[in-house]
Amino acid sequence: MAEPVERIEPRQPPLMEKLVSLAKRRGFFFQSSEIYGGLQGFWDFGPLGVTLRNNVRRAWWRTMVELRDDVVGLESTLIMHPRTWVASGHVENFTDPLVECKTCHQRFRADHVRGRVHAEDGGEFTEPRRFNLMFKTFVGPAEDSSAQVYLRPETAQGQFVDFANVLNATRMRPPFGIAQMGKAFRNEITPGNSIFRLREFDLMEMEYFVPPAEEMRWLDYWKEERLRWHVSLGIRPDKLRLRAHSKDELAHYASGAFDVEYEFPFGWSELEGIAARGSYDLSAHQQASGRDLSYFDDLKRERYVPHVVEPAVGVDRVMLTLLIDAYREEEVRGEQRVVLRFHPSIAPVQVAVLPLSRKEQLIETAKRVEHELRPYFRTEYDDTQSIGKRYRRQDEIGTPYAVTVDFETAQDQGVTIRSRDEMTQVRVPISGLRQAMADRLP
Ligand code: ATP
Repeated sequence: MAEPVERIEPRQPPLMEKLVSLAKRRGFFFQSSEIYGGLQGFWDFGPLGVTLRNNVRRAWWRTMVELRDDVVGLESTLIMHPRTWVASGHVENFTDPLVECKTCHQRFRADHVRGRVHAEDGGEFTEPRRFNLMFKTFVGPAEDSSAQVYLRPETAQGQFVDFANVLNATRMRPPFGIAQMGKAFRNEITPGNSIFRLREFDLMEMEYFVPPAEEMRWLDYWKEERLRWHVSLGIRPDKLRLRAHSKDELAHYASGAFDVEYEFPFGWSELEGIAARGSYDLSAHQQASGRDLSYFDDLKRERYVPHVVEPAVGVDRVMLTLLIDAYREEEVRGEQRVVLRFHPSIAPVQVAVLPLSRKEQLIETAKRVEHELRPYFRTEYDDTQSIGKRYRRQDEIGTPYAVTVDFETAQDQGVTIRSRDEMTQVRVPISGLRQAMADRLP
């Protein structure tokens, strides 16, 4: 008898299904081009999703660039000279092992389906072959090989190719970093787990250039820094861990790498990668372009090609992690509620202002209160549905505080602040509301 085989289950873990449904219902994310049947590996971000992503990007940029004096920013193009990708090794090596089901001809990544058969028809797989993940397109009107270019599969090559320009323009000296955020494209063989693995995604990458002898020290530094950053977004520390890459996982030029992993509903998986890349990229571009990409240290009077430590993380994967980590189903006084316990610094809405009923006077006061808070916090005004339903909606989108204007307000000039997590209600005067919110929100 054949060995028992694990089947490829198309079903997602229940938590993922619930999240995808919440994400769609509340406007975090939904399938791209859904009315045409969707496109696998491509997702759109709705109103709350955009805000959450911008908060993630802002937090990254603030930590990695603005609050440091050794990192500067860059925005390079999504399409670069095709020789970039030859020199970087992507044309030759940016491949995944591809297998095909012999019966139905569906394709899979070999390392994702090892030892399994295809569940739908029991078919066996072919031997793996290498499949390049870069999307190809053409520049200009001629569709021949001389016009062929690639959509970038990472942002990092921009930092390497522009290294000398940045060095000259800023007078930075190693150790220093160049950070970039932006779209990247990978023609993943098996995209999936909603926005975990996409074909079009958003990367945040920082290339940190160091004297060769300091590379391992900086790898150690950045893995701790990056782990700390995820904790600062409110992700539970016991769901995060650092995993060192084993020797056979490392790219041939890499001298060490760590993943920040998160315990997703489908198991521990990579959230962020931090890699020591040696002088591989700068040396490769120096050789291919004939341009000098070395650095002359005029204090020590020595010339060297800097080594690089790279933390790289996807906005989408951080977003998914934040949603999963914040998701709770709770029973309060016999009633079920779903809550996203977002950290207030990244919650799409920080304060919801709700009139208890649609009485004109309440609406007027509530709108005024919301306008007064708006310049300082991410606010939302809502007067639809019953107050209970509105609280439930705010819980589901992760709003940490709701301010309610009620029938007493006209008499006492006060409002009630309801806390999402403690479900407590405190009365404060409208005149002290802004300060009361500032005390609660970072
Ligand atoms: P894998 O082996 O899982 O395909 P990788 O190790 O090649 O991924 P890296 O190149 O290290 O991935 O990517 C750095 C980071 O970019 C990842 O930790 C992840 O946050 C994000 N990322 C990479 N690929 C994707 C993708 N297809 N969709 C969404 N995010 C991605």
